[in-house]
Amino acid sequence: MDLGNVPVNERYAKQTILPEIGPAGQARLGASSVLCVGAGGLGCASLPYLVGAGVGRVTIIDADVVDRTNLQRQVLFGEASLGQPKAAAAAARLTDLNPMVEIEALEQRFNAGNAEALIRGHDVIVDGSDNYATKYLLADACVKFDRPLVYGSVTGMEAMATVFHARRGPCLRCLFPQAPTGWVPNCAEAGVLGPLVGMTGSLQAAEAVKLLASPDGAMNTLIGRLWIMDIRDTRQQIIAVRKRPDCPVCSQAPSTIELLADDVEVREIGPREAHELPDCRLFDVREPDEYAAGHIPGAISLPLSTLQDGQARIPSGTRCLIYCESGARCRPAAVHFKAAGYREIFSLRGGRKAWQAAA
Ligand SMILES: [Zn+2]
Repeated sequence: MDLGNVPVNERYAKQTILPEIGPAGQARLGASSVLCVGAGGLGCASLPYLVGAGVGRVTIIDADVVDRTNLQRQVLFGEASLGQPKAAAAAARLTDLNPMVEIEALEQRFNAGNAEALIRGHDVIVDGSDNYATKYLLADACVKFDRPLVYGSVTGMEAMATVFHARRGPCLRCLFPQAPTGWVPNCAEAGVLGPLVGMTGSLQAAEAVKLLASPDGAMNTLIGRLWIMDIRDTRQQIIAVRKRPDCPVCSQAPSTIELLADDVEVREIGPREAHELPDCRLFDVREPDEYAAGHIPGAISLPLSTLQDGQARIPSGTRCLIYCESGARCRPAAVHFKAAGYREIFSLRGGRKAWQAAA
């Protein structure tokens, strides 16, 4: 294709004029596609820039709905979006921003079952997820199906971003071979500074645009380099990350990489419904100090950290209700209850806080 005489759309004039992008880079952006996994804080920051830049096709996958605690950092949403699916609400806002982009909203979880079609169907993948189970599944799937993954994570006052592409550099497991065990708070349980999420998501968008507009590597991306920001004293570092020859994932042949299914069926129920469950064991998956500070009467303490490191002995049963402080640790815990033979697994919506409020 001759890109010498591509007409410049005035919408993109400010970036097409950049020598690093130019009409050819703009045309490549328009012919490309991005999958954004998660429409939370990181997705809300990266998506407007990707759509604004004229990426041809953008898919957003998120199973959550907007609640008021999201609005502090998830800037695509407002009061009118409360209760709406995040994927659809984000798509509506983004379509208004740039109707030339084909935007698809998927109101579902990214999981081992839909990973292949979603990843193979896009050129660049942006990680906007907020939990380690999804981050590791997504990272492994991007190695298996050979797509660059623009990674970002924010906890509290610290953020990280990089680009993983196993063909050209390290993968997530070269850097951290296992997901952290023990109490791993996500944004729902730990605090997070909104503007730091915005910075990280914006950086992810910039890396994605560079990968798409300049695939021959004329601009250096974060492949092999990890950006770390501690916003407490605004100290940032970029450290080199090397491919590990013994990496548990990217040293394997792609066809042998196994994607761990994390799609255990867990039904969220409220405190009232929970009271009415017959023959149901009750498990508290918070850490021992949290359990000691107060728990639901009759609950057995089985901290997520002991489930994950294999120390916990799960009493047998078929039906159980699990809870943590606000709900975020139930899904990773549920995998272990399923493995122990439980056929019906319920989690307490809103966790112990909701139980107390209802009491
Ligand atoms: Zn690796």
